[in-house]
Amino acid sequence: MATVAKRRAKAARKQRMQLVHEGWAGGHTRVLDIRAGDTVEVIAGKDRGKRGVVERVRNAEQRIVVRGVNVQKRHTRANARADQAQGGIIDFYGPIAYSNVMLVCNRCDKRTRISHETAGDGSRGIVCKQCGERYERTSS
Ligand SMILES: [Zn+2]
Repeated sequence: MATVAKRRAKAARKQRMQLVHEGWAGGHTRVLDIRAGDTVEVIAGKDRGKRGVVERVRNAEQRIVVRGVNVQKRHTRANARADQAQGGIIDFYGPIAYSNVMLVCNRCDKRTRISHETAGDGSRGIVCKQCGERYERTSS
């Protein structure tokens, strides 16, 4: 009966351990400031210097998936059940650590640190440290 809960607890523990191992404070996660659709620049790792658009954010792992970055190949077999007639090699983008990227400001086009700000109307947003402008997401 309790196996599902147990398995889930085990998975959570494992994930926490992995986060600690990777150097995230105490295994705590926080909501990332980067959202899907933002442009980021990679500042560390084999794809350093590349820019790309964020496809997915995984808060639980503190990782993000960036288009064109960390290209990996998956070898697949033909699988009738998965509605895949042909096997082959599929390129996909692997998740990379959030700490390895910086947001690219869409006003000054520089990679930047950000600060948080609450506007006069109470709405919260992030501000580019380079140009001091509020970072606006055009699409959403
Ligand atoms: Zn800026």
